[in-house]
Amino acid sequence: MIEVIFITMLFVLGASVGSFLCCLNDRLAIACQALTVQGVDSQDLPLNELLFRPSFCLACSRRLSWVEKLPIVSYILSNGRCGGCRAPIERRLLLFELILGSVLVSLFLIDGSLNSLPIFLFIGILFAAVDFDYRYLRLPDIYSYSILWLGLISSILGAISVSIDEAIYGVVFSYFSLHGIRLVFLRFKGRESLGMGDPLLAAALSAWVGVSLVPYFLLFSSLIGVVWVVSASHLAGSSVSNHAIPFAPSLAIGCMVTLLVAMV
Ligand SMILES: [Zn+2]
Repeated sequence: MIEVIFITMLFVLGASVGSFLCCLNDRLAIACQALTVQGVDSQDLPLNELLFRPSFCLACSRRLSWVEKLPIVSYILSNGRCGGCRAPIERRLLLFELILGSVLVSLFLIDGSLNSLPIFLFIGILFAAVDFDYRYLRLPDIYSYSILWLGLISSILGAISVSIDEAIYGVVFSYFSLHGIRLVFLRFKGRESLGMGDPLLAAALSAWVGVSLVPYFLLFSSLIGVVWVVSASHLAGSSVSNHAIPFAPSLAIGCMVTLLVAMV
């Protein structure tokens, strides 16, 4: 019985982190848009506003009550609508909560301890980065740097099997490889092949796979990206060279595939 209560609490904790990350993405989108309008560097974000502003409805700006902040339960009780203005609440909030609640419980059941908490945070932040890039074709540096530092600290603390040397060499190798490809493409094709945030996210993920697996990670990610852009441009009836896709999902899947292949 105690174990059931503990696992339920873990699920609620994971779902709450998911809820926070989903809200953070919405706030980041608003902040990035405002900064772009003002002509200010989009990475110069108001962190205090992003992280510590009490939860509010995106449609009417009404501050949410504690009941409305309960993950999953509040969505069901409100029938997926704001209690004030009745504006629909996006289903991706529910998706964030369900996925991250399930991830935290699964990691606990596999590991039998809370030692995998850094891995849970890694998956959560990566999921938020993928969601943001998918929706806005942008990658906020705050996510990539969080994944990078979390990976390096986890390596130092022994929370992951990658040594700190492997992690640092992986970051450097990955960052300069992708920037090199980007510059070569720019020189010979005269346009960008990658977004500015992609090499940074790839470098951050490399801290988690280690330098010896970085070539596989980059290969898997590139293959997924190529398949995606060819399929998407075919479906849209446009030229492959003119079709932009978010690269963060390919990097995330490539990283997970690499880590899973390395485990077996
Ligand atoms: Zn509202």
